[in-house]
This record gives sequence, C-alpha cells and structure tokens, in this order.
Amino acid sequence: MPIFSPPRYQPPFSPVRRESLPMRLFTSVEKAVKGALFGCRMCGNCILQETAFVCPMTCPKGLRNGLCGGATPDACEVDPSRPCTWYKIYERAEKMGRLDNLLEINAPIDGNQAGHETWLAAARLWRERGQGPHPLEFVTNRAKFDDEWEQFFRALRQPDWWQGDAAYHPPAYTEPVSQLEAALRRGDFVITAEIAPPLGASGDIIEKKAGWLKGCVTAANFTDNASASARMSSIAASKICLDLGLEPVMQLQARDRSRVVIESDAIGAAGLGIHNILCLSGDHQRFGPGPMPKPDQFDFDAVQMLWLLRRMRDEGVYLDGREIKNPPQLFLGAAASPFGAPPKFEAIRAEKKINAGAQFIQTQPIFDTDRFAGWLEALDRRNLLDKVHILPGVVPLKSARAAHFMAEEVPGVVIPPDIIRRMDEAGDKQGQEETGIAITLEIIEKLKQMPGISGMHVMAVHWEAIVPQLLQAAGLALSKKQSII
Ligand code: SF4
Repeated sequence: MPIFSPPRYQPPFSPVRRESLPMRLFTSVEKAVKGALFGCRMCGNCILQETAFVCPMTCPKGLRNGLCGGATPDACEVDPSRPCTWYKIYERAEKMGRLDNLLEINAPIDGNQAGHETWLAAARLWRERGQGPHPLEFVTNRAKFDDEWEQFFRALRQPDWWQGDAAYHPPAYTEPVSQLEAALRRGDFVITAEIAPPLGASGDIIEKKAGWLKGCVTAANFTDNASASARMSSIAASKICLDLGLEPVMQLQARDRSRVVIESDAIGAAGLGIHNILCLSGDHQRFGPGPMPKPDQFDFDAVQMLWLLRRMRDEGVYLDGREIKNPPQLFLGAAASPFGAPPKFEAIRAEKKINAGAQFIQTQPIFDTDRFAGWLEALDRRNLLDKVHILPGVVPLKSARAAHFMAEEVPGVVIPPDIIRRMDEAGDKQGQEETGIAITLEIIEKLKQMPGISGMHVMAVHWEAIVPQLLQAAGLALSKKQSII
C-alpha cells in the first residue's frame, strides 16, 4: 500500500521505446521509489503538485480532472474494496488549503513519455530554464522561490500542445449553432428528453419515440453505449432523429475512444448537422454485460474532451496542432452528479467543466430537491450560474421495483425514503405508475421555482411514451395535448 495514495488499480506503464541499460536501471529505481510513496504508474506527466500528492492514476478510470458520478465517500464504484482516489484528493487538498489548485485542467497522457523516467527530464528542464527556483531563495526570498517553483512545475505538467489552465473560456462565436442553444439563449424554459438508441439496426423505434417527443421537447438526447452495453451508435441514432425533424443531443463518452476517435467523431457529427454534443467520461467497462473488454484506463476524461472540442471549435486546431479548415460548430454540454460528493467538491468539478467549455449541464436524476438546492447554491457561490444553462434530470418512476433499483444500484442517485415508501404502498401496476407520475409532477413543480434553472432533462428510460403526457400535466409541453395515463 503506497504511503500517500490508494493502491494502484492498474500496473505501471511500460516504456514505448527501449532505453540503454543504465537508463533502465535508473527508471527502475524511480519506479520503485514513486510506487512505494504514491502508487505511481509512471504516466510520464506527474500532476502530484496539483492533486495534494495523491496520484490520480490510481483511479481505475485514470481520471485526471476530478471524480466520476459514481464516487462515494466509502468506496470506488469500480472496485468497492478500495477507496475513491478522488475523494482522497479532495479531502487532502481541503486540509492543505489547496482546493482551488484542483481547478487547473490537467493534460491527458503523452504516450511517448509513459513508462519513462521523469527525474532526469525535470533536472534538464531546471537547467535549461536557468531561472530557478534557486534553493537558496527558499530561505532568502521565499515569495520569489514559491513563484518560480510554481512556474517550473506548471511548465512540467502543461505541455505546449495542451496549455490547460484554471480560467473560464467563453465561446468565441456569436450566433447560436443549434435550436437548443438558441432556445436557451432566448431564456425559454427548455425541455430535453432521453432516448435509448435501439438494440437492432432498424431506425423504426427511433421514429416512433421521436414521434412522441416532437413538439414536446426542444431536443432529444441519445445515449452512447450507456452502462458499457452495445446499442446503435449515438451518432447514427442522432442522425436518424435529425432527419425526422427533431434536433438531437449526441452523447459522446470517453470510454472506448482514443483522442483520435473523439476528434474524428466530433468533426463527423458536425458534418452531419449534429451540433449538440454532451461530453461524458463514461461508465467503466466493468458495468457492461461481459465478457469485459480490456480494463485499460480511459485515454481522455470528460473535462479533457470539453477542452479539446472547445479548442477545435474556437481555435480551429486539432490536438496535434494541425489547422482545421472548417472547424466544427458545436454546442457543448456536460453531465453533473449533484449528490455524488459534498456540494463544495462537486461545484469544483462543475466549474472545471464550465471553464473547459461546457455551455449546458444535464444532471443525474433529482429526487431530493433540498439537496439539489444545496448543489445549486454551491455553484452560485462560485459565480457559475450565469456561465452555464442547467437542466436538472427528472425520471418518472414506473414501479416500486424501479425506485428500489435506482436508489440501491445506480451510483449518484439519491431517493428519499418517503418516495420509496409511497411507491411501495402504491398497490398494483397502474397505482404505481400513477404514484410515480404524481411524485414526478411534485418534483417538477419544486424545480421550476428554483433560480438558476434553464429547463429540465426528462429521462423516461423505456417509458418515453409518458413524456408528452407528463409535460402536458406539468404545464411544460410545447404543443401536444394528451391525457395523463
Ligand atoms: S469512484 Fe470513480 S473517480 Fe473515484 S476512484 Fe473509482 S473510478 Fe475513480
């Protein structure tokens, strides 16, 4: 067990090029020392200075910019036998008074550096810079030493091709690129709804579900192999929906995608007329039906994806620096898990996504509106509410079984005991559906009153037919008139 970090989930990286014997010996010593102290995986781009000296590469997903939606104070969602690495980082950073250090957007790994030594590389950079930090100044001029120390480590951890920072980067365009963006900018109370792409190759089911939603919602989300389980691709489902006259929000998750595929899919989607992209890290491979794919760590996380796609759009460059002749027009979104961690930690994660490029946020399902209000207040304290459009997630409960499943099995979802009790006491199938709808309408009514909300995101998974009726009853439907149940 390392002294400062949870144990590694994955073994250390192997070098991509063969080194001389003395260098191999040197690298082995570095690996042994850093492994014992930090559980180091030799990623080649050390960000321990930013993460309160807990190594983020010990996280099973390898997330370098904050915790995932399934993290809890007790355990990692991927491997419950270990603590969540990012909880450790937040807790230690808070104790050290370094929480705001976590706002800097950390780079993905450069595969050329992974597995190789870094101590000599750091010493070379120190010598090349020739401007400190000078050890003597630690005593004679501490402020200067600290400043140069910070600059030195920033140069080490932020390569030229990334240049991550902790600043907000507003979009560099003026006209909305999608109907969703236009409606949010106008200040409409916007409704989006989720459709699970079909299991088969026919678009008929999308046509049926889009038919229910058209005229009721501004855009429909298409999940991207959620729960690591294969379905029609999000990009294909989004295109079918677009052709049917309903604007899609294409979900794009980092799991299963290298940086090359992320860039390529975003360019391809924009070329097809899909401009709303929701960036996600994704569920771990372990949650799929199996057999489980190689448990490799993710190449990118959601924050890095937002940073990359925003720069492709606003600066017209690929990650490798090549110019993009027709940059993709993208309206970028992110997910948030208001109940995953204490609001003060979740707000940092949200701020990081907004700074990186998130223009709208869709949240995990909200059942506990008081706790959700606490999350909103935490965002407000960080002056985030006027930089992003927030669409809280709403899930109509179809049965008591579904309520128990969500409360007990879905990471980041909190359902108050009173709601569970009402569903348990609701009687037969119809009674449970009616109670589920009644509860959802109460939640919608409370959410509608909250400042800082731009609309709602309805996730009626496999019950999309209820959405028009639900919105009609909540006074939120755009045009459809249907009776409830
Ligand atoms: S809970 Fe999520 S963020 Fe925390 S260690 Fe596990 S995979 Fe990483």
